[in-house]
Amino acid sequence: MEQKSKKMSYDAIVIGGGPAGMFAAITMKEHLARVAILEKNDRIGKKLLLSGSGQCNLTHSGNLNEFAGKYGDKGTFLKPAFKGFDNMALLSFFEKRGVSFEQRKDGKFFPKSGKASEILAVLEKELRRSGVDILCNEKAARVIKTENGFRVETKNLKLKSKFLLLATGGMSYPSTGSSGDGYAFAESLGHSVVPVKPALAPVVCKGFEGGSLAGLSFEKVVIGLWRKGKKLRSFEGPLLYTHEGLSGPAVLNNSRDFEPGDILEINYLSGQDRASFEKKLSERASKSLPPKVKRYLREAGLSERFCIDRMKKAGICEGLSISEMGKAERKRLAGFLTEDRIEISRIKGFNIAMATRGGVDTSEINRKTMESKKVEGLFFVGEVLDIDGETGGYNLQAAFSTARLTGNIF
Ligand SMILES: Cc1cc2nc3c(=O)[nH]c(=O)nc-3n(C[C@H](O)[C@H](O)[C@H](O)COP(=O)(O)OP(=O)(O)OC[C@H]3O[C@@H](n4cnc5c(N)ncnc54)[C@H](O)[C@@H]3O)c2cc1C
Repeated sequence: MEQKSKKMSYDAIVIGGGPAGMFAAITMKEHLARVAILEKNDRIGKKLLLSGSGQCNLTHSGNLNEFAGKYGDKGTFLKPAFKGFDNMALLSFFEKRGVSFEQRKDGKFFPKSGKASEILAVLEKELRRSGVDILCNEKAARVIKTENGFRVETKNLKLKSKFLLLATGGMSYPSTGSSGDGYAFAESLGHSVVPVKPALAPVVCKGFEGGSLAGLSFEKVVIGLWRKGKKLRSFEGPLLYTHEGLSGPAVLNNSRDFEPGDILEINYLSGQDRASFEKKLSERASKSLPPKVKRYLREAGLSERFCIDRMKKAGICEGLSISEMGKAERKRLAGFLTEDRIEISRIKGFNIAMATRGGVDTSEINRKTMESKKVEGLFFVGEVLDIDGETGGYNLQAAFSTARLTGNIF
């Protein structure tokens, strides 16, 4: 016999138990009597546990303007969220509940324990303390706008609420539960969804010859992005060689803009362009005691493995002195060091990307409350929205800050 679904009524229902959903539920419960989170997994916060390789890079140092610059063209949309609840407010929320943080040299904040589980434990405790109903193993299958609010259906439950908050996340790491369900809900309620693609993703490169150098990292390179013979822009940051291509913050942070066929023109000698490298090399070669090529490159800050690789590519034997190099050799070496052109064959997929580009169109959302401009009482928070930040704690901060804004409707 078919079991009848249980009927329940709430003031607010949050779909999705990620950081944005948990924090939105905590915020709503400060104003409303009955609040529930629906989570399709058997527990909340699965992706949060993986964040920062399990250590949780919660946020980053920086002021409002610096933060706003980390989300592509979505900084303006997010400004009220950061104004209302910034990095210091986020750290303070957890510090008041017993978490100590360390700020690393690059500005990233992590809990001192190095455990994302500590962050999740605080959120779970706060949800329980404030009396939010956490309904796990309940996958929202349908959402319907009614005269007085919303109806949400799972396999087992029929829920009613005045407010509905969609916090279903993006599409990255679908095994954590973020598989894009929220986009269909948004569309069914009349919202537009900007097509999604992986962001914060490494790239696979055509005929990549650096595979043998996998694991090699560079503290700072400058990269020019070329498409169909035109330079679109350049950016800089740390770079990592992988077996099949490139990763590291410089690539991850900009991958949202990459397309297969794009050329990344890498300058490993940040601060020195091709001409100035060649000029300095010839000047040094004409002085007394010219060093070996490898030594000269090592002095420029390049690793032994990389120097050998570049020299091999340029056809320069290992024991050669810089004064023994011909003009053609100098030119080839300069090219491989300052204008190394590598073609992207594909951007890695959602199973490896750490964020999602695209999502619910922010132009249809009130940026001061995260409420829909189209449907009263409907809210979108976190990565389900068309926002994605750089690596460094920016995505979690956006999840918490957008969630906190929902309290502004009271
Ligand atoms: C490996 C990895 C490491 C990361 N590290 C960091 C980091 O260190 N710092 C940082 O700032 N960002 C990091 N990020 C990004 C960050 O984790 C996300 O941006 C953030 O989790 C988004 O929060 P959210 O609450 O919007 O969505 P999510 O965390 O994706 O949560 C959405 C939740 O909704 C649930 N859900 C979906 N559909 C339904 C449905 N139909 N019914 C019920 N429940 C549903 C899902 O199961 C999930 O629990 C990382 C991402 C990955 C993948």
